[in-house]
Amino acid sequence: MPELPEVETVVRMLAPLKGRVIREVMVLHQPSVAGSPGKMSMLAGRTIERVWRRAKFIRVDLSEGLGLAIHLRMTGWLGVLAATVKDPKRDPYVRVRVSLDDGSEQLVFNDIRTFGRVWCGTRESLDALKSLKKLGPEPFDISPTEFAQRLRSKKSRLKSLLLNQEFLAGVGNIYADEALFGAGLHPLMIAEKVSVARAKRLLKSIQEVLQAAINAGGSSVENFKRPDGESGWFQRELRIYGRGGETCVVCGTVVKRILVGQRSTSFCPKCQRVF
Ligand SMILES: [Zn+2]
Repeated sequence: MPELPEVETVVRMLAPLKGRVIREVMVLHQPSVAGSPGKMSMLAGRTIERVWRRAKFIRVDLSEGLGLAIHLRMTGWLGVLAATVKDPKRDPYVRVRVSLDDGSEQLVFNDIRTFGRVWCGTRESLDALKSLKKLGPEPFDISPTEFAQRLRSKKSRLKSLLLNQEFLAGVGNIYADEALFGAGLHPLMIAEKVSVARAKRLLKSIQEVLQAAINAGGSSVENFKRPDGESGWFQRELRIYGRGGETCVVCGTVVKRILVGQRSTSFCPKCQRVF
């Protein structure tokens, strides 16, 4: 599933949509649109004002206070294509087409497994969506002191806590493993036992790995493709994620793979400790 760096990559690449006008919206798979898919027709004639991100949600602000929210989930993809690619038999995975300006180009939401979702409405109604409203702070916005305070008030294991979007927004399985490795912390350590200094180091590690991944256009571990159809390349830089059974890149110890709350977790038993 795309995490913060992948979604950030998408919104940066779609930022040039600013100023373009929506001509028509075609919903080809009704369940891909939350609520009433017919509402999408109200977007016709609106101008795209901004493409941005909150956690793993893509937001598109439109004129007259309207907007879109999109979650890519497993296989969702957004990109701009020439309108000539139109035959639903040729491309059965296009769920929503948003034709732009004179209709020669379209913003396409493609989703093979259909777990992705599109919401539309007023910006206020999108802000108020339960899944958006309950999100915790963005990893680049929270101060080290506040992060340490929040972390040390929790009894959860570090890995589970980092995946909890209400605690911190945008981190998923890949970057949680990478960040814990970078900070030298064991994924099963209980959050409230982490010292203030180590908690601050963990935030720094989270920020560093997310920034490096953003700079690399995200990780294409499973399905992620950028809006231009290319893969990100941070998967080549991953130091611990998915490396169970291999040797640690730092110390040579065999990397362990365990399940934490059903999620596959890789860690180095020597570099990552319970303090
Ligand atoms: Zn190691």
